[in-house]
Amino acid sequence: MAATRLQIPAPLQWVTVLTAACLMLPTFYIVYVALTAAPTVWSRLWSTRIPELLWNTLSLASAVARAMRITAINLFRKPITVHYPEKPRTYPDRYRGLLALTYDPATGAENCIGCRLCEFICPPAVIKVEMLKGQGRNYAKSFSLELYACEFCELCVQVCPTDAIVMTRSFDLATTDRRELLMDKDRLHAIGLQHQQSWGTGNRLRDMQAPPAPPKKPAEAAPAPTAKPEGEKA
Ligand code: SF4
Ligand code: SF4
Repeated sequence: MAATRLQIPAPLQWVTVLTAACLMLPTFYIVYVALTAAPTVWSRLWSTRIPELLWNTLSLASAVARAMRITAINLFRKPITVHYPEKPRTYPDRYRGLLALTYDPATGAENCIGCRLCEFICPPAVIKVEMLKGQGRNYAKSFSLELYACEFCELCVQVCPTDAIVMTRSFDLATTDRRELLMDKDRLHAIGLQHQQSWGTGNRLRDMQAPPAPPKKPAEAAPAPTAKPEGEKA
């Protein structure tokens, strides 16, 4: 099959030529005026306008060259697009994402004691906790977190005395349904089991923020024995 060639209509060609000619006219005029200017005009321009014009042109050219250098570097750089979720991303070590509840790995019991500190500290009030009194310790009877309104400020994590609420190294929870972001206790525990926990637990963060311990005082030296006056018998 013969290849079809793009035909530019003749009127459009004329418009193009006329536009180019119109754009060239000011350039021709400037060249003409410059060539026919008297030596006195050139001398006056050299002592007034031309040095400043040259300096401005050089500054502009230098700025354009710097910008073009960055463009050229990026032109040959390998793309850094990650095809998430087919290819998982590597998060930074200190990444803190989705909130989760934890179990005690030694006993398998829930870490949350239902103290409600997280509920009281939460700025947008998206946490609701009901305490359940128990033998020896308390539990959270219910725990809900409206993740769609969470600010990820981490205050709930910082106040938790038992490291029960933590942030995880993942944000993998995209959804088009807000109801899926209303978390209950079971879902928060499931997220805690599914994703790696962040390093920043409440106890660690509080230790970091605590004022440094005062330096230990050196042990007081024993008083030196006093010399007895001469003549005094032991
Ligand atoms: S991270 Fe901040 S806003 Fe989100 S639940 Fe915790 S305290 Fe509330
Ligand atoms: S998550 Fe922590 S701060 Fe919140 S109720 Fe449970 S133990 Fe208390």
